Amino acid sequence: MNGVLVVGGAGYIGSHTCLNLSQRGFTPIVYDNLVNGHREFAKWGPFEFGDVRDRERLDQVLSSYKPIAIVHLAGLIDVGLSVKKPIDFFDSNLAGSTTLFAAAMQARIDKLVFSSTCATYGIPLQVPIREDHPQSPINPYGKSKLMVEQILKELQFRNDFRSVILRYFNAAGADPQGRIGEWHTPETHLIPLTIASVQSNSALKIFGTDYPTRDGTCIRDFIHVCDIAEAHGRGIDHLMAGGESVALNLGTGRGTSVSEIIEAVRRISGKEMKVELCPRREGDPPELVADNALAKATLGWRPTFDLESIIESAWNWHQKMVSRLSLGPEAPNELT
Ligand code: UDP
Repeated sequence: MNGVLVVGGAGYIGSHTCLNLSQRGFTPIVYDNLVNGHREFAKWGPFEFGDVRDRERLDQVLSSYKPIAIVHLAGLIDVGLSVKKPIDFFDSNLAGSTTLFAAAMQARIDKLVFSSTCATYGIPLQVPIREDHPQSPINPYGKSKLMVEQILKELQFRNDFRSVILRYFNAAGADPQGRIGEWHTPETHLIPLTIASVQSNSALKIFGTDYPTRDGTCIRDFIHVCDIAEAHGRGIDHLMAGGESVALNLGTGRGTSVSEIIEAVRRISGKEMKVELCPRREGDPPELVADNALAKATLGWRPTFDLESIIESAWNWHQKMVSRLSLGPEAPNELT
């Protein structure tokens, strides 16, 4: 069957990863508890409902599909929530991961791609950030991901369990064909909130205008979700070809400020938008930009979408979502 178990495959990055895997000839088996995922996003292979902490259910699914590798993206991602409810993050992200790794090892699966984050670096000492930059996360979300990275390194040495760790910078955009896209509840990310404020004619809050950056707002490295998905596909190929464990940054190497994002959304939507200048949001580093040379060298990977196509694909997706919502209960279940 050439199956790859995609844990968290009904989410934003997971569903784009499934699309990429299916294009490479794999069958993505989505395993998701649908807390943040969407059933209709599992379009490219079988769907199995289950929680990453449920060992019995994982054992069942692994023994019935016998996947050749695993992509692990399940977990909680809201940084603000992680500060309020740290135990939930350690339960989902850390206990969930160790449960999954134990099940994988029992099923004799020894290849895994893990979804990590630039939040493991904390406040960077220099940018662009290389993978050997010290990792000092400043919130429970980043800490939970770093702990899993450390466990994977330990398993590699002691159990020959190989992994590709992908540290995402700011994932954005949507499938250019509009089949899937960003859909978080509640939404906390800049690009979807900027688009939502255009659509609803409400003010976007800008968190901090006094940062030591070119225009006073924070700078982030926005990378298209399909470029991130492509790195997962290549990560699986790397492990299948016998490649060694590695941790890689996934970013474009180019920083864009919050104000520049707002300008780009105005330009692409052709609409004006209100903004409200607000104090800094707790825990936001001024600038996060990836050095992506190692991902390029290891996977032969390159980001292929520029900022315009990121915002354009996000805009088209959110316009589709709004027209679906305005259809109310008559709306089709499928977004295609
Ligand atoms: N941001 C903002 N207004 C919002 C949401 C985000 O000004 O409504 C800023 C946020 O403070 C940060 C940047 O946009 O500087 C990116 O935030 P996001 O939550 O999208 O991603 P993060 O970098 O925190 O992972």
